[in-house]
Amino acid sequence: MPDNRSHFDGARVLADLNALRDFGAYKTGVHKPTFSEPHMRSLEWLVQRLPEAGLTAAIDGIGNVLGTATKSGPKLLAGSHLESQNYAGWLDGPLGVVYALEAARVINPDPNLNGAVEVAAWCDEEGHFGSFLGSRSYVGGVTDDDIDAARDRNSGRTMREALTDVGLAGRARAQAERGRHIGYIEAHIEQGESLESSGLGIGIVTSIVGIWQYRISFSGEQNHAGTTRMDVRKDAGVALTRFCVAIEDRFPRLCGPRTVWTTGHIALDPGAPSIIPGRAEMLFQIRDDDPDVIDRLEDLLRSMAAEVSAQGRCSVTVERIRTGAPAMMDATFQDAIEAASLAFAGGRSVRMPSGAGHDAQILATIMPAGMLFVPSIGGISHHWTENTGDADIITGAQVFVEACRHLLVK
Ligand SMILES: [Zn+2]
Repeated sequence: MPDNRSHFDGARVLADLNALRDFGAYKTGVHKPTFSEPHMRSLEWLVQRLPEAGLTAAIDGIGNVLGTATKSGPKLLAGSHLESQNYAGWLDGPLGVVYALEAARVINPDPNLNGAVEVAAWCDEEGHFGSFLGSRSYVGGVTDDDIDAARDRNSGRTMREALTDVGLAGRARAQAERGRHIGYIEAHIEQGESLESSGLGIGIVTSIVGIWQYRISFSGEQNHAGTTRMDVRKDAGVALTRFCVAIEDRFPRLCGPRTVWTTGHIALDPGAPSIIPGRAEMLFQIRDDDPDVIDRLEDLLRSMAAEVSAQGRCSVTVERIRTGAPAMMDATFQDAIEAASLAFAGGRSVRMPSGAGHDAQILATIMPAGMLFVPSIGGISHHWTENTGDADIITGAQVFVEACRHLLVK
C-alpha cells in the first residue's frame, strides 16, 4: 500500500486562503454575500478539495458543505463559513474552513492515527438571510417554514428564490447524526485586539457570550417647544439621555470583567425640532457569559427605571426582548488547544470568551465544542482591511492540526 501520509504544510494553508480570496475579491478583502456567485464558487472549490483529505463532499439543500469520512475510528467535526459580510475581510470564515481542511489532509491519510477529521462549511453564518441558518439546520433547528420566511436583508430576495437560482432547491438538508462526532472544533480570527496587544498567538475560547437585549421606553408629555417653560416640561428625550449617562456611571460597579453593553438605537417621538418628545425609546444590549452578572445588571436597570419614574416627570419601562444563551466551550477541547499551543506557539496563549457569535455556539447545543482564535491586526474585522500576519496564520494552523490530533487520540 502506498504511503500517502501528508505532513503539515503552512505554505499550502496560505495558498488555499489566497485561492478563496480570489473569488469575489474587493480591494484586499472580499465581497461574498450568501449564495452570490463568488460564494458558490468558494463552496465548489471546497467540494473539489475535500477528496484530497479522504472525504466525500457535497453541498446540501441549505448551502452547507459537509465532507464525510469512511475511515474507522472517532470522528471530529471541524469548520467555519465561506460567505462574507458585504465588502469585508478575507479571513472571517475561510480561515477556519482551511484550517479544518488542512487538519483533515494531515490526519485522515495517517494509518497510525485511528479516526478522522470531517470538514464543514456552514452556510450564512454572516446572517444575510437569518441567524446561523446553516449550522442551525444541521442541528435540527430550522423548519421548512423558517426557510420559506427567510429573505436577503439587502435585496429582499427570498431564500427559496436564492436556492433555486443556485441550483440547490429540492436537495436534502444534511442533519447531524447523533453520536457520530466526538465534538466540533472551529478556528477564527479574534476580531478584537487583545491577542495582538498582548503579543499572544492563540486565544483559547472558554465561552461564546450570550446576548440580552432590552427595549427601554420613556413616557412624558408632548408639548410646544417654544411656549412650555423648562420647569414644567416632561421631556422623554432628556430622561432617556440622562438614563444612558447613568448606565455608564453605574454599570461598571456591578459588571463582570468582560461585560460589554451598548445603546444601539434611540428614537424620539414625534422627533421634530419644535416639539418636546412625549415618548422616547432605546434598544440596549448586554453581552456576557455569566447569567448571574446579567441578573445583577438587569435588576440595576429596573431599579434605575423605578427611580426615574418616582421623580414624577417621566415613567420608564424596561422590557427584555431577547434572552441570551451563552455557550460554554468544552474543557477537554480547551486543554487540547492549550497543549497544542505549548507545542507549536511557545505557550503564547490565553483563555478568553468570545464576544462575537460563531457557528460553534450552535454545534455546542448537541456536542462538545471548542474554538481557537488567531490575532487580528489592529483588531479590525467586518472591513476589507481585516488581516492577520502570515506567521500567525501558519502558527494557528499548526496548533489547530495538533489540537485535532490530540482530541482524536486521547
Ligand atoms: Zn465569522
